[in-house]
Amino acid sequence: MRDPKIPSSHTNRLVHTAFGWYALTREQSDLGPFPSKQEASEALSRHIHVYKGVNTRNDSDGKPHSGISLHDSAHCHKTNCALCAEAYILRQGMVAS
Ligand SMILES: [Zn+2]
Repeated sequence: MRDPKIPSSHTNRLVHTAFGWYALTREQSDLGPFPSKQEASEALSRHIHVYKGVNTRNDSDGKPHSGISLHDSAHCHKTNCALCAEAYILRQGMVAS
């Protein structure tokens, strides 16, 4: 199901976990968890607005992470990381559906 309120550029940065929705960022901390995808998207919009002008890298330079199977939680430097949360859930045997 597509939500017209979610910008297409956000699609690959919004992650659903058993804790809720996260928005992936290139900063120290991902955003979330949020109870809905819409709220995660709005938080991401605010985040991008705040970091515009601070982060000189182009916003189209790719995904912040390449995938959970390659994510190294033990050496992750983020303080709030959606992919670490997912890895934790997987270790606990929880199902994020
Ligand atoms: Zn991480």
